[in-house]
Amino acid sequence: MKPRIFSCRVASIVVACAAALPGAAQTTETNAAVETNAAVETNVIPTTNAIAAANAAAETNAMTETQTTPSLYLDPAQPVEKRVEDLLPRMTLEEKISYIGGTRDFYIRAIDRLRIPAIKMSDGPMGSRNDGPTTCYPGGIALTATWDRDMATKIGVALGRDCRARGVNILLAPAVNIYRSPLCGRNFEYMGEDPFLAGQMVAPLIQGIQSQQVLATVKHFACNNQEWDRNHTSSEVDERTLHEIYLPAFKAAVQRGKVGCVMTAYNLLNGVHCSQDDYLINQTLKNNWGFDGFVMSDWTSTYDGVACANGGLDLEMPSARMMNARNLLPAIRDGRVKESVIDDKVRRILRTVIGAGFFDRPQLRTDIPRNDPDNAHTALEGARESIVLLKNMKHALPIERSRIKSIAVLGPDADPAVYCGGGSAFTRVFKATSILDGIKELAGDRVKVLHSTNADDAVKLAKQADAAVVCVGFNQRPGGRERDRNRGLTEGEGHDRPFDLPDGQTNLIQAVAAANPRTIVVINSGGGVGWAGWVDKVPAVLEAWYSGQAGGQAVAEILFGEVNPSGKLPATFEKRWEDNPTRPYYHLQEDHKTPYTEGIFVGYRGYDEKKIEPQFCFGHGLSYTEFEYGKVAVTPKRIPADGQATVSLEVKNTGKRAGAEVVQLYVHPVKSSVPQPAKQLRGFERVSLKPGEKKTVTLALPADQLAFYDVKTRGFVTEPGAFEIMVGSSSRDIRGKGRLEVTAAAR
Ligand code: BGC
Repeated sequence: MKPRIFSCRVASIVVACAAALPGAAQTTETNAAVETNAAVETNVIPTTNAIAAANAAAETNAMTETQTTPSLYLDPAQPVEKRVEDLLPRMTLEEKISYIGGTRDFYIRAIDRLRIPAIKMSDGPMGSRNDGPTTCYPGGIALTATWDRDMATKIGVALGRDCRARGVNILLAPAVNIYRSPLCGRNFEYMGEDPFLAGQMVAPLIQGIQSQQVLATVKHFACNNQEWDRNHTSSEVDERTLHEIYLPAFKAAVQRGKVGCVMTAYNLLNGVHCSQDDYLINQTLKNNWGFDGFVMSDWTSTYDGVACANGGLDLEMPSARMMNARNLLPAIRDGRVKESVIDDKVRRILRTVIGAGFFDRPQLRTDIPRNDPDNAHTALEGARESIVLLKNMKHALPIERSRIKSIAVLGPDADPAVYCGGGSAFTRVFKATSILDGIKELAGDRVKVLHSTNADDAVKLAKQADAAVVCVGFNQRPGGRERDRNRGLTEGEGHDRPFDLPDGQTNLIQAVAAANPRTIVVINSGGGVGWAGWVDKVPAVLEAWYSGQAGGQAVAEILFGEVNPSGKLPATFEKRWEDNPTRPYYHLQEDHKTPYTEGIFVGYRGYDEKKIEPQFCFGHGLSYTEFEYGKVAVTPKRIPADGQATVSLEVKNTGKRAGAEVVQLYVHPVKSSVPQPAKQLRGFERVSLKPGEKKTVTLALPADQLAFYDVKTRGFVTEPGAFEIMVGSSSRDIRGKGRLEVTAAAR
């Protein structure tokens, strides 16, 4: 955790600060206290004498000490662990139990008696959404499509600032479940199909958020890879697949991002509810990875108080339905739950919130505007980098405004803006620019913008215009009040979505393309869609995701060539849903089980393995300029299994426009004792180049990135031998190769 900034230095002022915290106002505190008391009263079970005595001692202790000397735990100058150890024994067992159950939907409760402030949470990955309109940034998959770690930091900082402007202590983001199928309703929140890429992007995002003294929450731990039947389905995943595909992004969030909070998933994992999964939470997250923050449940995803307590859950949200006094006190009394287990939960929460400075200063920063122009600019920059040019034939793009007189802007996603996915990530905005608005703004006086939402008019207008832009995808809700827009969105939390474009959009594209040869399709979606019947009929296609409030402006800038597209796909877009490696095991009706039978062969690993040509491969994304790749150098050529190599090459912009290229590094062992994918992403770098400019790109390749998860030793192993090194512009556009020998570890 970053060093804390304290605005209050002495204990007496700390009290004033705590009272000034949002949600810590008098009525709130009183409510929380009443709730706590009520919970204790209704759940009262006679405790053993020992527990009662300890409680009484804790209370007297706290009362007398706070009345006389300033308590150590309220002193910001003391080390965090000391403060926690000072506070913990002052809490009664009932208080401790009440503390591990949330309150008022999005709060950790205040404990008045001990001056413990309420802690406020807010969703979610696209914006700090719980307090009315806010800035909406590109969703997780859109951000990941930038392959820009600095952009992740910037958006993290902006999200953190928005939280501070609303007094939010904990942001319920980012979300990193692997994109296993295009149908998953929440892919737009997640960070694509590749664990390495997701891990590389999530760590700086978290660091950005937490740099603003706001805690991030990585979710949903783990294997919440579909929304269909999400509360009952068990993701059946073998151990190697779990550790190689589904867990690494969480591990990166913990170990490199130093995330404060982890949220468990709704689903079961191998038959166990994630909120009570000892293997997942205690053994893996806490013991193996060394996570010292706290674990909260997803909302109402708890089923058994004792199992949750022993499984490692620290905070039940949004309230103590299961981990309450009624269930836990008798269990503590008869030894099914150790009191030290409860202490550990409270200790983890306190350590994290005290460490973030929440006891010491108001979280609300009134100096940050709620509608922050700097953040709006960050949202625009992110959108510009996120959009992927999938196809561009016959120089359909960019459109030179001096060479056209009219442009038709058609389709259901043209206006109003389709900027966000549905569910808990849905974010109301002060202003979102639609694609139509963006085009109108940039078209200038000379170019007439023709627009209609009516499919019959669309063909007429397309015939008249010099170019047609058809905006399709999900989540359009023409008309309607802003606040109702989350209802009925076709892509969002709680349900999966169809593969094919909905509502006759395929027919619309076909009709417009027949009327105008320069038809450009722009898609708003969280992932791949059905291409059959239309993609070969249009010269250009843009994937615009849900790229936040500025998405419409960014699309227009790309269409007119003001911005050179640079996004690359963080997921494979298959030709047909039937091609997807998970297809036979997805949406199974039997036993509420989803077998991940494809194992590690998810996404591009699966298409390579099955030799299936995708429509647009992982890592794909075109530019208006060209990049030339020089010879790949691997140095040294031989490293021990605990060493590190460097892969470098020169990249040159040989075109006429400035642009950015994402150089991608894939590896493959020549021989392996276990089945291995044909390639796995193990490095990337985004490089901006002016026309004619060249730069040397250097990618670090530590030998541990060549490891696989060995089920025999239950750990990662790098086997000595030769590795093929591939560098390319996408997973299927490899421009140069090298070789690396790995020898036994030096130590
Ligand atoms: C979602 C979480 C979200 C929570 C609180 C749940 O339905 O799965 O991602 O943070 O609600 O809104």
